[in-house]
Amino acid sequence: MKKVQKNLKYKRRYNSYTNWCKKEFGSRLQKVSVNAGFTCPNRDGTISEGGCIFCNNEAFSPVLGYSAPEEPISLQIDKGLKFIKKRYRKPARYVAYFQSYSNTYADLSMLKKKYEEALKHPEITGIVIGTRPDCIDKDKLLYLKNLSDKYFVQLEFGVESCFDQTLKTINRGHDFECSRKAIELSADVGIYTCAHLILGLPGESKEQILSQADIISELPLHSIKLRQLQIVKNTNLAEDYIKNPQKFRLFELSEYIELVSRFIERTHPDIYIERISGEVPPKYNVVKSWGEVRSDTVIELVDKKLAELDSWQGKFYNT
Ligand code: SF4
Repeated sequence: MKKVQKNLKYKRRYNSYTNWCKKEFGSRLQKVSVNAGFTCPNRDGTISEGGCIFCNNEAFSPVLGYSAPEEPISLQIDKGLKFIKKRYRKPARYVAYFQSYSNTYADLSMLKKKYEEALKHPEITGIVIGTRPDCIDKDKLLYLKNLSDKYFVQLEFGVESCFDQTLKTINRGHDFECSRKAIELSADVGIYTCAHLILGLPGESKEQILSQADIISELPLHSIKLRQLQIVKNTNLAEDYIKNPQKFRLFELSEYIELVSRFIERTHPDIYIERISGEVPPKYNVVKSWGEVRSDTVIELVDKKLAELDSWQGKFYNT
């Protein structure tokens, strides 16, 4: 409650990651996406070739495509910074965001080479690494812990759902226990750890979706990122949706605002919320049910909804 009250000063009824960054670093933490050319065991045949049914990495790449795997990471950062500085004029500290595919899926020597190339850039003060929970081990974590003595280091795990049945449906290739272990191991070592969840995956009822706030709250997480289910072009999910739209329950904007507000009420008050909704470039969206609404607007609407409910993050945590 204490942290959320502090956030009320910043006009947020939830524990905002952005506000934490401002307090911790004195400014925004701006991610500069880099594509280090890693692949993913759920795509290269190690686990499967099809990948997660919702996955289209192209749709998550930066709009101007400044991160191309064939280019050196330092050049990708230069191009990214040029684009970002033009777009966002407010001062920020910059971190390299290893975003596409599974960015700990290589041997340690390769990971060191890629991460350290990014950290050599004079304007980069840290790295954020997106990966799968089955692509991490003790040696990699200890190396990251050492790096974190000098730089900001955050691991982002794609958890996506707390239910094994859902994980099977989306062809995730690991179970929830795997996510739990990876998060606990990372926290034990002392790395900032974030979990991604998709709200509204096929087969999950509203109550199941909300109950994940209780489950995730018991994990030693620093932050979470939430996104609504989106049907993205060129995915197995889109193929299935086009054939069987009745199987899917996509939330209207107002429904999602209500759902995510209820989720936040049940979330541990100490966990920072880094993202409330997801965006992909409109050309990739099969269903454009939210019109032109951007993530910033969703943040404001959720805050307004929590105020209407006289509620805040953690109000119903553990009740
Ligand atoms: S979402 Fe991540 S884990 Fe799943 S197939 Fe895509 S890159 Fe691999």
